[in-house]
Amino acid sequence: MTLKYVATTCPYCGSGCSFNLVVQDGKVVGTAPYRRSPVNEGKVCPKGTYAHEFVNSPDRLTKPLIKKDGKFVEATWDEAYDLIAQKFKSYKPDEFAALASARVSNEENYLLMKFARGVMKSRHIDHCARLCHASTVAGLAASFGSGAMTNSIPDIAESKCIFVLGSNTFEQHPLIGRKIVQAKLNGAKIIYADPRYTATARQADLYMQFVSGADVAILNGMMQEIIKNGWEDKEFIEKRTKDYEKLKEVVMKEDYNLENVSKISGIPVEQLKTAAEWFGTTKPGAILYSMGITQHTVGVDNVRSVANIQMLTGNLGKPGAGVNALRGQNNVQGACDMGALPVVFTGYQKVTDPATHKKFADAWGFPDGICEPKNGYEVTVMMDVLTDNPGELKCMYIMGENPMLSDPDLNHVRHALESLEFLVVQDIFLTETAEMADVVLPAACYAERGGTQTSTERRVQMWRKAQDPPGEAKEDWQIISELAAKMGYAKQFPYQDIEEIFNEVAALTPSYHGMNYERLERPEALHWPCPTTEHPGTPILHREKFSHPDGLGVFAPIEWKPPAEVPDAEYPFVLTTGRVLWHWHTGSMTRRSETLHSEVPTGWIEINPEDAKALGIKNKEIVRATSRRGTVNVPAKVTPDIMKGVMFMPFHFAECAANILTHNALDPIAKIPEFKACSVKVEKI
Ligand code: SF4
Repeated sequence: MTLKYVATTCPYCGSGCSFNLVVQDGKVVGTAPYRRSPVNEGKVCPKGTYAHEFVNSPDRLTKPLIKKDGKFVEATWDEAYDLIAQKFKSYKPDEFAALASARVSNEENYLLMKFARGVMKSRHIDHCARLCHASTVAGLAASFGSGAMTNSIPDIAESKCIFVLGSNTFEQHPLIGRKIVQAKLNGAKIIYADPRYTATARQADLYMQFVSGADVAILNGMMQEIIKNGWEDKEFIEKRTKDYEKLKEVVMKEDYNLENVSKISGIPVEQLKTAAEWFGTTKPGAILYSMGITQHTVGVDNVRSVANIQMLTGNLGKPGAGVNALRGQNNVQGACDMGALPVVFTGYQKVTDPATHKKFADAWGFPDGICEPKNGYEVTVMMDVLTDNPGELKCMYIMGENPMLSDPDLNHVRHALESLEFLVVQDIFLTETAEMADVVLPAACYAERGGTQTSTERRVQMWRKAQDPPGEAKEDWQIISELAAKMGYAKQFPYQDIEEIFNEVAALTPSYHGMNYERLERPEALHWPCPTTEHPGTPILHREKFSHPDGLGVFAPIEWKPPAEVPDAEYPFVLTTGRVLWHWHTGSMTRRSETLHSEVPTGWIEINPEDAKALGIKNKEIVRATSRRGTVNVPAKVTPDIMKGVMFMPFHFAECAANILTHNALDPIAKIPEFKACSVKVEKI
């Protein structure tokens, strides 16, 4: 028996914890602590502990599949490539769209972006950042000039006041939750605002329960109280920002005095007052947020309000402070960095900028050019185009994403995907989306490959290969390169290994210029921006100046607006959705992990006891939840943890899919859907 330990990075959340995969006789059999990571110091959460269990699942895809007469038939790689190449070549550029993936490496996201824009000449590439933090990218870029988490994870332990808003950090980013505990042990005050009394609420010194969608009102009210009491950081505002008077015009309005904010949010005035005092007077103060802030039709407004309060209190550019936007999936930051977005190439270089477009066209060397220098469609818009403008989009290539469970209004998504002429899905399991494909390509998982991922704190870290992929499955970069070669572009995809792809990314991307595999091999890795090979990386952004050309942060006057759908007589409850500690997103990996699945085998809907009594519903009873978009039968969980009038469903479970109910109303800028507030009714069956 041979045993070895291979250090790698967790495939689940954006915290970027490291652990060892234990390999016995060439097969991954367990995980073990890796103590040299500054992020998790040898600790992991349950998902990390059991991250080996799905790797050798009997459900893994091992051969290409081609659908014939409605059934999948095993095929050779050549048969699959020939069919795909012949079909892809039959479409005009913008009839093709690609979805990249927050679950695969930076290099592979880059390569699919290059394939879409270079081989297919299409403008349409996006990925699931659209569903989680598109509003962060747009909002923070507008406020600070850079759309990413400002500080590092270890830095959170330095804070003296932490305001967690719309993030159940202890369940969704547990090892970041550990930094909150470390800060608390050092005397920090913890403020938590969320519609649910979660595991994170239990750690808070002040918990404020509020109606989903009231975030801007709460932040404006706190800012009014801070200004009224003279707690604002006058020197920071004067030297580092602009448009403060415009902010004041809005936040000092009567609408945002604490009595009115209390009416909008449901938070008692005294709690709002305490929150404003603690956050206004205790330095340094950090804000941590996640999808509770971003997944709204006012997602960008919410993010800009968070940026406003941090500029008002001078909590930027220093340890223990910052806007800590906690990214969801392991590599959602990296997929954005790699230009798997419809408006940018790598490093947020704009597609519409002629010099940037020429730079990529020249570097890639496609003899027949690349896509037009125009923005493409976001994934949420692609789904609308598919249903509303038949024939405009005809063909889609999806790598490692599962929109048939992750996207809002699943009946609408099904209709959209059914209207495609040709769908290729590349994944490790036959997901709900892969089942709808014409061709399925079997991919390697995180334990079977190298490459890099970029965690929520902009730290670029290595994956390391621990075993061979099962059957004939291949790494995503190999599949994309071989397909490109079949389509006549072998010269543009000449890679012998994944490191060559990273070096190409670094050459084209200023924020990654100074990175290479030798430097990234170190346990602490590197945070971008890292412009030269001598640069130590940048754990804290905006120390001296913001990233706008004039170096100033920009205040934005933001008015509160209600969600797109509010309760009425027919649909009287607000539904909000989220995740649980034991599962990850669409559950394709965690539901195939025996231990994780046995802890939480299915979903539920949380109902406040008063609402349950009025509806005659008992705990664990199967109930019918209905929105304007669909109906789901789901077990009731009667609990005082959810406030009266609000209900919660986790979205991992296909058999009671929360996203059948959710609303695809979009933020006008970020095109992110409003997962966090729609209207439902719930009935006994
Ligand atoms: Fe993995 Fe996130 Fe858990 Fe760390 S906190 S072990 S990255 S799921």
